[in-house]
Amino acid sequence: MKSDQAGLYIHIPFCLSKCGYCSFYSIESLNLIPEYIVTLKKEIEYYRNVFSSFDTIYLGGGTPSLLSIGQLETIFKAINKSYNIDPHAEITMEVNPGDVSLEYFHALLLLGINRLNIGIQSFDDNILKFLGRRHNSEESISAINDSRKAGFDNIGIDLIYGIHGQNISLWKKTILQALSYAPEHISCYQLSLETGTPLYKKYALQNIKLPAEKEQLKFFHTTTDELEKAGYIHYEVSNFARQDKFKSRHNQKYWEHVPYLGLGPAAHSFLGNRRWWNTSAVKTYLKEIAQDKMPVENTETLSVEQLKLEALFLGLRTKAGIDLKRYKISYGVDLLVDKKTIIDALIKNKFVELKDGFLRPTRTGMAVADSLALI
Ligand code: SF4
Repeated sequence: MKSDQAGLYIHIPFCLSKCGYCSFYSIESLNLIPEYIVTLKKEIEYYRNVFSSFDTIYLGGGTPSLLSIGQLETIFKAINKSYNIDPHAEITMEVNPGDVSLEYFHALLLLGINRLNIGIQSFDDNILKFLGRRHNSEESISAINDSRKAGFDNIGIDLIYGIHGQNISLWKKTILQALSYAPEHISCYQLSLETGTPLYKKYALQNIKLPAEKEQLKFFHTTTDELEKAGYIHYEVSNFARQDKFKSRHNQKYWEHVPYLGLGPAAHSFLGNRRWWNTSAVKTYLKEIAQDKMPVENTETLSVEQLKLEALFLGLRTKAGIDLKRYKISYGVDLLVDKKTIIDALIKNKFVELKDGFLRPTRTGMAVADSLALI
């Protein structure tokens, strides 16, 4: 179900240890968590004159499951005190399989969390070790089973492919195992190595390999083939839902320029034509809020031209594509005329197609979505 109501993202910037491929902002100084919760409460209150209500909440990280139930309760109390939360809100929390238990899941449900994103990444212990994850496959299976036992009926599993030492048949095995738990949502990300991460350093020294472009496409198509065969909807480049109602309502806001508020270090917000983001350093974030300053690192105001281009390329990451009528209402121009050169090139290369008033990516187009903007 689509909504134009804003979404709320809360970043929990702590991890017990850093994974070898991770470039997300997080730190390992868990002793800062209590001070962080107090500070986050203040930031939650700051924005109550800007945003009044939300129909999605997403706790991401970092590792939100490092927080105790008491700490999560403090966050939710602050949110509910400052904002109207839709009674049917989608409330998601990312959890690490190594941190959770049946009791913890029971308590999350009581807090109102109704959707989990479990960071499984792989069911192969060698691959988990290679990635530097601190959990193993047994913990992943327990986490899935415990979440079900507790009563979660909307769980997502995150997986990674294109890993050194992983071939297509190993990847297929991982997908099939994931399918055996019938999760409502599956995200499959291709491993990408950002400069500065430990795995990138190994890659730069040629100690490990990444699949060549042709092989990467094979991983992508195998993923889609297997998941579609099992009835999942490939609704965004990396995301699959068992039914329409299980598509991530929160993430769809990012792709459709719906307003969102991001709180915590490095979190991004978007409202109207303005995007702003917080400082990424936890200590600076804590210090600025303690001095009653907004911890905003930068703001950009998007021109109509920038908004149109973003709408085009974000829309082409989703299977639904771009609603041409809605585009015209938003920007006062016909997309097919306004961006004729780009769209002709995309159609010619069979990356997109026009169907029922929508401009949609083809499967080939989705496979190369990250490079479409360069065409
Ligand atoms: S748990 Fe997630 S955020 Fe933390 S280091 Fe690993 S990948 Fe990064």
